[in-house]
Amino acid sequence: MAEGGIAAALANVDDRDNWQVHFADTMRGGQYVNNWRMAELHAREAPDRVRELEAWGALFDRTADGRILQRNFGGHKYPRLAHVGDRTGLEMIRTLQDHAVHLGIDVHMECTVLRLFTSGGRIAGALGYDRERGRFRLYRSKAIVLATGGVGRAFSITSNSWEYTGDGQALAYHAGAALQDMEFVQFHPTGMIWPPSVRGILVTEGVRGEGGVLRNNQGRRFMFDEIPENYRPQTADNEEEGWRYTQGDKDARRPPELLTRDHVARCIRREVAEGRGSPHGGVFLDISWIKERLPNAREHIIRKLPSMYHQFKQLADIDITTAPMEVGPTTHYIMGGIRVDGDSQMSTLPGLFAAGECAAGLHGANRLGGNSLSDLVVFGKRAGEHAARFARESGAADIVPAEADEAVRYALEPFERGAAAHAEGPYQVQQDLQVMMQDLVGIVRTAPEMERALEGITRLRERAARVGVAGNREYNPGWHTALDLGNQLTVSEAIARAALERRESRGGHFRDDCPDKDPACARFNIVIRKGADGGMQLAREPIPEMPAELRRVIEEQK
Ligand SMILES: Cc1cc2nc3c(=O)[nH]c(=O)nc-3n(C[C@H](O)[C@H](O)[C@H](O)COP(=O)(O)OP(=O)(O)OC[C@H]3O[C@@H](n4cnc5c(N)ncnc54)[C@H](O)[C@@H]3O)c2cc1C
Repeated sequence: MAEGGIAAALANVDDRDNWQVHFADTMRGGQYVNNWRMAELHAREAPDRVRELEAWGALFDRTADGRILQRNFGGHKYPRLAHVGDRTGLEMIRTLQDHAVHLGIDVHMECTVLRLFTSGGRIAGALGYDRERGRFRLYRSKAIVLATGGVGRAFSITSNSWEYTGDGQALAYHAGAALQDMEFVQFHPTGMIWPPSVRGILVTEGVRGEGGVLRNNQGRRFMFDEIPENYRPQTADNEEEGWRYTQGDKDARRPPELLTRDHVARCIRREVAEGRGSPHGGVFLDISWIKERLPNAREHIIRKLPSMYHQFKQLADIDITTAPMEVGPTTHYIMGGIRVDGDSQMSTLPGLFAAGECAAGLHGANRLGGNSLSDLVVFGKRAGEHAARFARESGAADIVPAEADEAVRYALEPFERGAAAHAEGPYQVQQDLQVMMQDLVGIVRTAPEMERALEGITRLRERAARVGVAGNREYNPGWHTALDLGNQLTVSEAIARAALERRESRGGHFRDDCPDKDPACARFNIVIRKGADGGMQLAREPIPEMPAELRRVIEEQK
C-alpha cells in the first residue's frame, strides 16, 4: 500500500543532503524521544539499502541524468524520497519477493501465527494456522523475527489494511517481551472522507510534495496561520516561496503544507472544529491549481500521481487534475511497538527480534513520511543477520507440549461457542472497539475519556471471550476476526494506558488536558510489560544519554 517513497540521503537531487541532515530531521520529527542509535544507523545505512534494492531490480523513477529521482516530503529538509510514481511499496514487494524466490527461501503463505512459546527465558517456537485449510502448524525455532506491521484497525477511520490488528505487538507482549511508547499513534492528515465507504483511504503526502495546497471553505491556505517555532527557520512565509520549493528551487524554504503530519492533522481538525471545514467534515487539498503555473499540468499530475488520479476518479468521481479533493485525518501508523535493541533489533526476550512497524524506537513521537520503508530495509537486514547469529550460537529450545495443546484449544473455542444462544459474532465487538478508540483515544485525548476507554476495553474483553463463529476452518474470516480480537484489545489497552501515563502533548500524542510539551517527559520512554498477575505494568525508563558527536550534528542542523 505504500505510495510516496522511501527516504534515503542519496543526495541525487540536492547535493547538500547527507546522513547527518537525515538524522537531524528524523530526531526533530520524532521530538527527541527517538532511539538515537536507530536514527543514526537508519540515516547512515538507508542509501545502501536503496541501492541494494535497485541492484536487485527495483525500477525507481529517474532524474534527467539517469540517477534515482527523489521527491519532497513532510519534515525532510531536502528532496529525499526515492519513488516509483506513487506505487513505491508495490515495487519493493515485487523486488524482495523475486529476490527471495531466487535465493530459495521457504515461504509459508497465508499462515497466521497465533502464539509464541518460550522455554528457559528465551524464544522456543510458534503456533500458526494456514488459512487455506485451517490446519495448525507448530514451529520449533531458535530465533524469530516479527515483522507483522501496525495496529490501525483498532480505530474506525484508518488507512491500514484489514490485517493491521497488532498481532506482533500482542504476541510479543504475551510471550514476555516489553512494549514501548504505544501512545504514539500517527494520524495522517490526508485521508479520503467522502463517500463514506472509502473514508480513511490514504491520500499520499506526495500530492503536497508535488505542489498540492490545503485550503479551508473560505479558500484560505490556513497552514500559514500556525508554524511551530522549531520549524519556522525552514518554512516558507509566503505562497510564492512555497511553490518554488516544490519545483526544486534550492534557495526556497518548504511550504507549511509539508510540516510534520501531527501538526498538519491538528490544523485540519482546528479548521473543521471552528466551522471552516469542507461539506463532509474535512478540508480541501488542491493539486489542480498548478495548471496556473505549469503548461502541461494535467499530464504532469497523472504521471507523478497515477494512483491518486485513479483512486479519486473511481471511488469519488472526482478528477484531481481539475477539482480539489476533500480530505481529513486518518489513523495511519504506530511509532510505538516492541522494544528492541538499536543495533541488533532483539526484543527484551532473548531470541525474539522485531523489525518494521511492529518495532519501536526509530520514529520517536512522530514518523516522517518515507522513513518507514527505509526502516524496513535497514532494520529488516539487521534483524535477520542478528537472528541468524543468535540461532547459530544457541541450542534448540523445546516447546512444552501442554502449552501447544492449550493454544490449539483456545484457538478452536469460537467454534465450540458457535451455536450457543449467548454467543455473539466477532464483527460487532470489533466495530464497537474501533468506534470507541476513535472517539476516546483518537487524535485529541483527555484523561477522563481514556479512563472511559479502559473501562470499555474491560467490557469488550468479556464480550470477546463469548464470541462464537459458524462454518468450517477453511478460509473462515469470522474465525480469523475472532482470533484477532484478543490482539486488538491488547494493543488498544496498551495505547490507552500509555497515553494516560504521558501527561503532555508530543508528536502524534495530543492531550487537550495537557496541551504543552513537558521537557521532563523528553527523558523517558513508557515501557509496558506483562505483570505476574497478568495485568499491564507501566514504567518510565530513561532514554540513554546521546553521544556528544550526535548532539553536535543536531545543533549544526538547527
Ligand atoms: C496507504 C499507506 C501508504 C503508505 N505509504 C508509505 C510511503 O510512501 N512511505 C513509507 O515510508 N511508508 C508508507 N506507509 C507505511 C508503510 O507502508 C508501513 O509502515 C510498512 O509497509 C510496514 O511494513 P512492515 O514490513 O512492518 O509490515 P507489513 O508490510 O504490513 O507486513 C506485515 C505482514 O505481516 C503479516 N502478518 C500480520 N499478522 C500476522 C500474523 N499473526 N501471522 C503471520 N503473519 C502476519 C501480514 O499479513 C503482512 O504480510 C504507508 C502505509 C499505508 C497504509
